[in-house]
Amino acid sequence: MKKTLIIGAGGVGRVVAHKCAQLSSSVFGEVMLASRTKSRCDAIAADIMAKKGIQIQTSAVDADDVPATVKLLKDFKPDILINVALPYQDLTLMDACLEAGVDYVDTANYEPRDIPKFEYHWQWAYQERFQKAGLTALLGSGFDPGVTNVFCAHAAKHHFDRIDTLDIVDCNAGSNGLPFATNFNPEINIREVTAKGRYWEHGAWQETDPISLGTTFDFPGVGPKKMYLLYHEELESLSKNFPSARRMRFWMTFSDNYLTHLRVLEGIGMTSITPIKFQGQDIIPLEFLKAVLPDPGSLGALTKGKTCIGDLITGVKDGKVKHYFVWNECDHAACYAETGAQGVSYTTGVPAMIGAKQILEGTWKKPGVWNMEQHDPDPFMKDLNLYGLPWQEKEMAGNPLAEIG
Ligand code: NDP
Repeated sequence: MKKTLIIGAGGVGRVVAHKCAQLSSSVFGEVMLASRTKSRCDAIAADIMAKKGIQIQTSAVDADDVPATVKLLKDFKPDILINVALPYQDLTLMDACLEAGVDYVDTANYEPRDIPKFEYHWQWAYQERFQKAGLTALLGSGFDPGVTNVFCAHAAKHHFDRIDTLDIVDCNAGSNGLPFATNFNPEINIREVTAKGRYWEHGAWQETDPISLGTTFDFPGVGPKKMYLLYHEELESLSKNFPSARRMRFWMTFSDNYLTHLRVLEGIGMTSITPIKFQGQDIIPLEFLKAVLPDPGSLGALTKGKTCIGDLITGVKDGKVKHYFVWNECDHAACYAETGAQGVSYTTGVPAMIGAKQILEGTWKKPGVWNMEQHDPDPFMKDLNLYGLPWQEKEMAGNPLAEIG
């Protein structure tokens, strides 16, 4: 019987726990959910019992503390650890997995707390150690990064001889009726959005001011929405693994209301990660802001509408130029009914479960540290259709983003 340890009991952890519990008899075996705050894990476990009649275990652990995590790993003896805590914990959890001999999956690349930098080099540096230990680490198994990488690998395998351009388009058309809330961890979300935009063109990174390049895209199932160029971490691995591409970009939709709030918060220094003194204590404004914003895990019941995320690719097949779009549409209310979480947690948690499933079943079990597109996309694409994130694809007459930028 296999064993699965999930660390991080936020919105994403809730979905991973529900999905792994659902497949506990066939794939994941005994499931344990651990986080610093055990009561959060217990609440999720009670919900899984109420909705699905399945028991999961819970535990308290601080993933920044390697010896404590190693102890939990050695006591519970999981086959795999699914890290859905925060990106700050990636390296300590990879260290703990190496020490305890456990395979590893995460959904976001490591970031130091004091520098908002989304780069893979810290985690890629573990390649040799995971290889030598005979362990598999799968990086970025969420939606973006994650499914967007697999979409690209699927396109390269089945639709193109050469990929020329990739535009990842991410729309959350959900509305929660609140004046300002982020749909995943506010600290991570705001660090991402306030960073400079960056895209890959002609073998080099091009930089733009934050939220300065925007256009409108007609999202299937949602309609036309304004989206903005952002740097997103999957561009780093995709540009390396698909070197034929002359341009790779990432776009995300934001409402005018969200951007207005963000500009004000930024303008008054609330998004800063430089510590300030407050009543004799050092505090980081962005961490304080996180504490006063709604917990993304609490937005499930309020959020209505759809998400739509896809890869728009232009390239060459059989000597002819081809334009192709592959995407998923997901409904917030349906996600909430199934797992008690909104669509952004759902679209991240389901791929984390599917990535772990590939490792446990052996299809993606390969010693070393891997990004999603380095594996065969077929079994993952099949599971997306089976476990809640069905995808669609179409050939397009032209590329609507070709001339933008
Ligand atoms: P939340 O903030 O809702 O949850 C994170 C959880 O991690 C919290 O419940 C917290 O619980 C726990 N945690 C934090 N620090 C520690 C620690 N030191 N030890 C143990 N547990 C800890 O975030 P989300 O669920 O929204 O996001 C989870 C992850 O998913 C993040 O890394 C995020 O970047 C990633 N993500 C990836 C996406 C993708 O598509 N690839 C999209 C969205 C999110 P406690 O208070 O108990 O410590």
